[in-house]
Amino acid sequence: RAKEQGKNTYRFANPELEEAEVRRNTVEQHLKRAVQLEEFEVHYQPIINLVTGEIFETEALIRWNNPELGTVMPLEFIPLAERLGIMSEIGLWVIDEATKQTKLWQDSGMNMRLSVNVSNTQFEDPLFSRKISTILSNNQFNAEQLTIEITESVLLNTEKASKTIDHLRNMGIEIAIDDFGTGYSSLSVLNSLPIDTIKIDKSFLSRLSEDQNNVQLVNTIINLGTTLNSKVVAEGIETPDQADFLKESGCLYGQGFLYSRPVSPADITQLLLKQSA
Ligand code: C2E
Ligand code: MG
Ligand code: MG
Ligand code: MG
Repeated sequence: RAKEQGKNTYRFANPELEEAEVRRNTVEQHLKRAVQLEEFEVHYQPIINLVTGEIFETEALIRWNNPELGTVMPLEFIPLAERLGIMSEIGLWVIDEATKQTKLWQDSGMNMRLSVNVSNTQFEDPLFSRKISTILSNNQFNAEQLTIEITESVLLNTEKASKTIDHLRNMGIEIAIDDFGTGYSSLSVLNSLPIDTIKIDKSFLSRLSEDQNNVQLVNTIINLGTTLNSKVVAEGIETPDQADFLKESGCLYGQGFLYSRPVSPADITQLLLKQSA
């Protein structure tokens, strides 16, 4: 009660907070109808084999275009979708759409994996692996060509996470830890789980040149990946210097604006055609 009153007083005293809340409410109202109105689309960012320079897989990244709000980025609307309890539904839509699209690329002869992000609530849905299995069989998508990205925070509930990871890996799906280095996963948990890929968070790369400690940290994460027999993907590569450093450090895969921003399926098709030419 006191907290509630405090919040209200604060709100009236602080126009910026009130503005943020109005925005949140407006976004939520539109978000509730966005699935039905088909306002989402999926963009794809190439993940590159840093040694050969070839596209190895793409990461599916959701985009929301609303006639009134314009483009709303995932970091703004995903927390709201979680709160509204509709993120699972939206997330499954992304996986359905992205497997259909990737299947088209594969059927036209392109060798191409797909990586998708899964939010915590989505991953913790007891029916999650069954729902994934249904999508894959409906779309005739080879499970071995799919990577599911989760964050370190999912691993805090180790027993539960470990069960879902086992189900998915038994289907042939690979598991990646996204934004690695920003969470709290313990080394013993990491060692006990079959993690296929570690994705180094982009914050480490952006601070490489400023801070020698970050150079050491990135090297440590790359070595950890090697020790755990995991692939290592660096996120957020923006400069040739960063790419050179990663290659010298033994990091095999990367993604970032240096190679390509997340783009429409048509743009990926162009990139693939250029690559095969
Ligand atoms: P993420 O999974 O870590 O995805 C990478 C983010 O970094 C993307 O932001 C991408 O556009 C951005 N990025 C890529 N290369 C660079 C670079 O060189 N420099 C910089 N500064 N940024 C780069 P985006 O698309 O805004 O997505 C933000 C986050 O939203 C994602 O982070 C992911 O956690 C979440 N997300 C996006 N799509 C989905 C989805 O379909 N489902 C779920 N559950 N989460 C999603
Ligand atoms: Mg990701
Ligand atoms: Mg993520
Ligand atoms: Mg990330």
